[in-house]
Amino acid sequence: MTALDALLRDRAARDEPVCLFAYDLDGLRRHVTAVVAALPPRCRMYYAMKANSAAPVLEALAPIVAGFEVASGGEIAKVRAVAPAAPILFGGPAKTPAEISHALDAAVTRLHVESVLELHRISAAAVARGTTVEVLLRVNLAGPFPSATLAMAGRPTQFGIDEADLPAATAAATSLPGVRFAGFHLHSLSNNLSAETHLEMLGLYRDTVVGWEKELGVVVKVLDVGGGIGIDYQDPAHHFDWDGFTRGLVAWVDSVPAHWREIQFECGRYLTAACGSYAVEVLDVKRTHGTAWALVRGGTHHFRLPVSWQHSHPFTVLPVERWDPSVPRPSVTDDRVTVAGELCTPKDVLARDVPVARVRAGDVLVFALAGAYGWDISHHDFLSHPHPEHVFLDDDRA
Ligand SMILES: *Cc1c(COP(=O)(O)O)cnc(C)c1O
Repeated sequence: MTALDALLRDRAARDEPVCLFAYDLDGLRRHVTAVVAALPPRCRMYYAMKANSAAPVLEALAPIVAGFEVASGGEIAKVRAVAPAAPILFGGPAKTPAEISHALDAAVTRLHVESVLELHRISAAAVARGTTVEVLLRVNLAGPFPSATLAMAGRPTQFGIDEADLPAATAAATSLPGVRFAGFHLHSLSNNLSAETHLEMLGLYRDTVVGWEKELGVVVKVLDVGGGIGIDYQDPAHHFDWDGFTRGLVAWVDSVPAHWREIQFECGRYLTAACGSYAVEVLDVKRTHGTAWALVRGGTHHFRLPVSWQHSHPFTVLPVERWDPSVPRPSVTDDRVTVAGELCTPKDVLARDVPVARVRAGDVLVFALAGAYGWDISHHDFLSHPHPEHVFLDDDRA
């Protein structure tokens, strides 16, 4: 029996309906250690912590990754609480002057800059502290990009500096007294599933940045190639081929100028998605207008990922025999079921029309791949239900 099975059996035997996130910290360490070990020289893996900012996750990752990519003062504080000396990269599209000051006081390694005005604000804050700070200019590339579900560049988005504004931005970054220009930041995609297209995109990055060095007269030391490595929520066997990607990456690294001394990756989803499971108890089963429903204790206020990506999230049914014989036990057998939560909105759906062998009231549904953009992106207090339990499974500490 796995630690997760044991946990679910234990919780299913209690009176409160099961509703929890479980995170496998050993599995997380093993996965991310392998991801980092496959990187060629000059490449560093940072963790984009907005995917999952739970303290035990940050603590597990701190010794493995090169540092943390953060996007708010709150995220800086969370990193510093568990890893006081960890390198921090501070990005985000709309930084307040107070956050910039906080970042400098927290000794972040670099800031990822989104506009010329922001460069001025950062420089002024650094000068006021009698210091300077390294910056990367985040550029909203013209593209075209390989298709992935969420595109941050190559079309009008709020992110980064337009290529047309780069001469002004590099001029400011190389002349303002408080900043040291270190290179460019090009996070353009999310949830890309193809290693081949990711390598093509890196080829576009290399050619574009080599061109900028010549045209703009700047010297790049660091290139941030972003995150966006994907998870296939419908077919876990079809996740991004990291080994194939890193084999191609060896040749790519050999093809970029030797003075680009650091290639930064900042992945979120690919690092933490697989470590998390969301388990919820079926409170009721019924039919309306021909559709079979499983109503669960929980929903999209805990796990908004399926509605935000408009997919049916995969789940397994853990049969639970315990049942009060004095009440009926509704069930669905060999049919399609739609899984809805406890919120009073028709949008509170975790999976739609999914074939199941059997689901009964009292069984537990276990949603896998819930470790990234699950709890962290959800509107926890809508309808004021109690929060789920968060369990961090850790054999190392057991
Ligand atoms: C969200 C984000 C990431 C992480 O993206 P994933 O798709 O989770 O890898 C990296 N960099 C920036 C700037 C981001 O906003």
